[in-house]
Amino acid sequence: MFDLKTLVRPNILALQPYSSARDEFKGNDGVFLDANENPFGTLNRYPDSYQKNLKEALSAYKNMPVKNIFTGNGSDEIIDLLYRIFCNPGKDKALTFTPTFGMYQVAADINDIELVKLPLQDDFQINTEVLLPFLCTENLKLIFVCSPNNPTGNCFKEDDLKLILETFNGIVVIDEAYIDFSTKASFAKYLEKYPNLIVIQTLSKAWALAAARIGIAFASEAIIQLLNNVKMPYNMSQLNQEAAVNALEDIKTFETNKQVILEQKAKLKSVLEGLDIVKKIYPSDANFWLIEAENANRLYDNLVEQKVITRNRNSLVKNSIRITVGTPEENEKLIKSLLSISKS
Ligand SMILES: *Cc1c(COP(=O)(O)O)cnc(C)c1O
Repeated sequence: MFDLKTLVRPNILALQPYSSARDEFKGNDGVFLDANENPFGTLNRYPDSYQKNLKEALSAYKNMPVKNIFTGNGSDEIIDLLYRIFCNPGKDKALTFTPTFGMYQVAADINDIELVKLPLQDDFQINTEVLLPFLCTENLKLIFVCSPNNPTGNCFKEDDLKLILETFNGIVVIDEAYIDFSTKASFAKYLEKYPNLIVIQTLSKAWALAAARIGIAFASEAIIQLLNNVKMPYNMSQLNQEAAVNALEDIKTFETNKQVILEQKAKLKSVLEGLDIVKKIYPSDANFWLIEAENANRLYDNLVEQKVITRNRNSLVKNSIRITVGTPEENEKLIKSLLSISKS
């Protein structure tokens, strides 16, 4: 049986969270002499610590109640908070499927948590037979699943994710950083069905706001409360909150640019397919292609020489390179470079 309280670190359950001046007086009207702010300037006031306007904009767009939304200083903050809420340093464990996003490991190391890594199958899907016995591991609190996965690009099978959510009594975090590029639906719709589910999204990729650091978590009200208790009181600047709200008010730009990226992604694939230096293009639900090259190190270096910077993922998937889809002009430059390398 899933019981949230038994999963939370005792010090976090007992925590008396910081109470800001704005927590104690909630009105908008008056002369504010309560927070030792400077009365002059335009950025002189502390920002909304609960990012209400941003959450309302997200709520409307994502069709998700505000009470089930947490916003953080990038998904990176949320990943770190989850370790700090659920995992006792030096004792508890987390699990993920590799190759995957590197922050799950870094945040585990910072928090002194052992991260169990189960290799994905050759088709980059989860081997559920291998996984099942691990779900009973003592002190295993968190499972991180990145879907669509970075760097492989694929989504995991819906039935496999459901199996994990139904069988594991700890927290299952599904990182959907690339979900906007995918034809598959978000798992956020299953929040009521699975109280152990946390879905992470971000405005860093499809929303073109990587510089503003906006990460999003969808979870039960009880989990959102824990995130609010543990976060820094003012974890998102006023400037970043405004940038995010502005982006969410301009859905048309978002949709148009996403469409361009998806068209460019398809075009890029047809070019890559015709190159003899490309051995394989892995299926992708994201805004990048992972390709297998004849020799990834050489191809990567050759592209750098032409001032085209891709990500050499040879250390994770043999002879692989991850190529992000750029603007039409950027992709044209990439294609020209690939063609010249291919001929030489
Ligand atoms: C890019 C990416 C993120 C985004 O992280 P932010 O901190 O929100 O910028 C999260 N997860 C994965 C798997 C990513 O590739």
